[in-house]
Amino acid sequence: MKYCNSLTAYSRYKTREVFIGDFPLGGNNPIRIQSMTTTDTMDTIATVEQTIRMVNSGCEYVRITAPSLKEAQNLSEIKKELKKRGCSVPLIADIHFTPNAAELAARIVEKVRINPGNYVDKKKFETIDYTQKEYDEEIERLHERFTPLVKICKEYGTAMRIGTNHGSLSDRILSRYGDTPLGMVESALEFLRICEENNYHSIVLSMKASNTQVMVEAYRLLINKMEEAPLTPQRGEQIVYPLHLGVTEAGDGEDGRIKSAVGIGALLEDGIGDTVRVSLTEPPEYEAPVAIALVSRYKERENHQPIKEIDEHPFDPFAYNRRASLELIGIGGTNVPRVISDFRSIKIEKENDLNPIGYFYDEATDKWNMTDMASDFIYLGDNILPYSVPNSLRPIYNFETWFSNKEKTSSYPVFSNYSSYKKEKNSAGIFNFVSMQLNELTNQTLAEIKNDPSVILIVETENQHGMAEQRRFFFELANHQIKNPVIIKRTYENISSEEFMLHAATDFGALLIDGLGDGVWAEVFLSEITAKECNRIMFGILQASRVRTSKTEYIACPSCGRTLFDLLETTDKIRKRTEHLKGVKIAIMGCIVNGPGEMADADYGYVGSGPGKITLYRGKEIVRRNVLSENAVNELVVLIREDGNWVDKMEQNF
Ligand code: SF4
Repeated sequence: MKYCNSLTAYSRYKTREVFIGDFPLGGNNPIRIQSMTTTDTMDTIATVEQTIRMVNSGCEYVRITAPSLKEAQNLSEIKKELKKRGCSVPLIADIHFTPNAAELAARIVEKVRINPGNYVDKKKFETIDYTQKEYDEEIERLHERFTPLVKICKEYGTAMRIGTNHGSLSDRILSRYGDTPLGMVESALEFLRICEENNYHSIVLSMKASNTQVMVEAYRLLINKMEEAPLTPQRGEQIVYPLHLGVTEAGDGEDGRIKSAVGIGALLEDGIGDTVRVSLTEPPEYEAPVAIALVSRYKERENHQPIKEIDEHPFDPFAYNRRASLELIGIGGTNVPRVISDFRSIKIEKENDLNPIGYFYDEATDKWNMTDMASDFIYLGDNILPYSVPNSLRPIYNFETWFSNKEKTSSYPVFSNYSSYKKEKNSAGIFNFVSMQLNELTNQTLAEIKNDPSVILIVETENQHGMAEQRRFFFELANHQIKNPVIIKRTYENISSEEFMLHAATDFGALLIDGLGDGVWAEVFLSEITAKECNRIMFGILQASRVRTSKTEYIACPSCGRTLFDLLETTDKIRKRTEHLKGVKIAIMGCIVNGPGEMADADYGYVGSGPGKITLYRGKEIVRRNVLSENAVNELVVLIREDGNWVDKMEQNF
């Protein structure tokens, strides 16, 4: 089960130190920040200028695409120009499909990144029933094609990233292991074994996916495999190679940041990761500040309050399984995790005071309309509602206020700790929210809760290593077979909007992707964050953790030198037309070389197939080839309509 040092005491998971030029990562080095250019690699000046902007924004390594020999060759011009301008940032060549470009680039730059899914294999999306002999022959072919690059890297002191992408696994891997974290790990290990046979160890590994659950499971499994099965004796003392963290095709804006924070943050919380790239469909100089914000939370994390140790993970950390819980008042069981909006310090006077959390009152019909991001519960503290709220929004009051209120049956009490609940148990409701922290879970309280199906637990924490403490709370419940539903609650004070989004995405997301939590509740003090923003972010976190869908999902590539259209502008255009299509997944990919392979599980693909040309996909199947880009968004809408997946946009006045 091992994939990190400890599930309760924060510490960086130590890996082998690897030098990227003169600038090492892994070992005792800080977590490095990197990103990738989006310019045409043949445009030396544009690439150099963008690289410098990226370095100024905090990038410590810069990756540049080298799709063919000519771009690989031009890396040397880029390097020279950077040097002339006083910039010595290590460069990484990004390679797909072209071993000859990799072999040239490895002689020029400090590191090459190869994608094991397409370095040797051409993808045909075929399921092949391999005999062992045929499988071995493919591995043999891989040896022949890949070994020259390993030898060049060794000779030139060039590092290499074996960068697996969930969306572009080879047909061989897919046929044998499926589209799974194990397939991703095996995809890298096939190449890693060849490196080790050649006694070459300047390796960094990554397991990127757009699906945050798969991404986190794959990194964990990779560590576990490396820990458990030393591949060759040559590997030396430190067996695990450094890890480059990233969520692919995360998209842009808030969604892209939340998705990145869920996946990357979940691993950083367990001390995993040696370098980070946040991939956003935005100018690359916007990425490093987000990565820095994610990483900087761990600088002093070791000093956190101790958390009771645990030896074994009571859940499988390598596969998603929702924690089994009882269903109480629509919370837990098979229900999607619920959202509780905190209105303790927000006065409600008029109906439209509920607009920020997705409820709209229509005076003409005397009806409430709700959006797909309408909260499920509203915590009011001691503020009594001046009117009846819709049935789908259930009020929660502090116990004393609830008790003195006439509307007891249509609202619920909350107790600030277990002892106050116990004291008032005789006057409590049929269902009760009870806040608890880990230290309140004693043998006695555990036994009492186990036999009390009126209790919905709210897990809170004041620990700096709060996710781990809350996870420990879930472990304790699991070890005592307690199935009461649990709401995850976190409190944030004096926090900016950007920090709140990233911190909350990490804190809640890291639990949700492991199937923990039947609801989420964020309480924010002394900050500019509005109820509307908080609500939107909480729904965004649930979607990014893949536990509750409330909007369209965009899988947009970050763009690079291969990109054939303005990704940011196009994503925006597509979003404007389709953002009301709850649950539909649309991939927007800059090129047809890598795009289709990396669209993950998108329902539709909008892929650049030539200058001014777009090819549209339904899943992995091409349905409209080379559509003029000015008509392509309309054609995409037509396609969605034809499939019966279109609904008209409800006009909402907010
Ligand atoms: S899919 Fe996007 S990021 Fe990937 S190679 Fe193509 S254009 Fe570049």
